[in-house]
Amino acid sequence: MNREIRSRLVLGVVLAAALDAAEPDSRITVLVYNYAAIPADVLAQTEAESTRIYQFGGIVIQWLDCPLTPAEANRFPSCQVQPGPTRLALRILSQSMAERLRQVQDSFGFVLYPDDGSFATVANVFAHDAEQLANRRGMRLGVILGELATHELGHLLLGSGSHSSSGIMHVPWHLKELEMISQGLMVFMPQETERMRTNIRLRAVREKATEPAPAPRTQQR
Ligand SMILES: [Zn+2]
Repeated sequence: MNREIRSRLVLGVVLAAALDAAEPDSRITVLVYNYAAIPADVLAQTEAESTRIYQFGGIVIQWLDCPLTPAEANRFPSCQVQPGPTRLALRILSQSMAERLRQVQDSFGFVLYPDDGSFATVANVFAHDAEQLANRRGMRLGVILGELATHELGHLLLGSGSHSSSGIMHVPWHLKELEMISQGLMVFMPQETERMRTNIRLRAVREKATEPAPAPRTQQR
């Protein structure tokens, strides 16, 4: 092995290390708050469905199932962090919470965009509405919830005005979309995954910066 080959190998290792270092930029953590008390197997399917769709776009999600009461907090040390630019919160809301918080008729969830332009971090899905849709269409609740979670988390990662003419950010979901969901074909459009990956990199840079105080928020379903 001559010096040049050796140096190239070293360079290769360095480049590989740099790529490895870049990889976490496409990773996010999602803290899950199961207010609707959906069963564990349904929650697992919800997360698996969303994981599959994001992985297709090169984005890795670490899910943390978090407690709802301070009394349980000590048993979940990983959850003892505030949501942040790359630590998103997914709230699976009960029927009564949905009725209280819903601002757009027939919506299945919403996100909150801070009015000060800081990164949005909290996504909400309506479990009861998802269950009714799943029952009507003979689909699995975990699949529907997974799609809804993916859609709402997509709003966080894409920014406001992120509904699309096709793919998972298209609304409303008609027969065509539901069939695509059933077949596991509903995904983000390529330009959306590219935008999300860019935004995740920006969020990761911001992660270490001091978060601004909570600002008044506007709602988008
Ligand atoms: Zn939407």
